[in-house]
Amino acid sequence: MSYLTEKVAYIRGKADGMQIDESTNEGNIILELIDLLSDFAEEIEELNEEVGEIDEYLDIIDEDLDDLEDFVYEEDDLDYDYDEVECPHCGEVMHVDSDIFETGECEKELTCPNCNETFILDNDECEE
Ligand SMILES: [Zn+2]
Repeated sequence: MSYLTEKVAYIRGKADGMQIDESTNEGNIILELIDLLSDFAEEIEELNEEVGEIDEYLDIIDEDLDDLEDFVYEEDDLDYDYDEVECPHCGEVMHVDSDIFETGECEKELTCPNCNETFILDNDECEE
């Protein structure tokens, strides 16, 4: 039993002990409110369980995705090298072919696939 359902059960017990008169307006609304609280507590408990299940499911997907990424990038490594470049606008990390610079080129304009902003990538091999 969750903290909420326990608490509602406690209040209901207390109300029973007070012998609240359901035939009065006040008594009636108090008992209705306790019923409502009880429904809320149950709903929240169910939601928590569902969120827990989704959370577990997400972990599984995340692990699968990691495996898939390892597989895909390992495959890529066989064909060419890539560098990790971070977008200065949104921080998205993207992979660019390390042969991106043509001979003699010191900078290249790139477009971020995430935010579509352009930025200049400097060639490390160029000296200022
Ligand atoms: Zn970006």
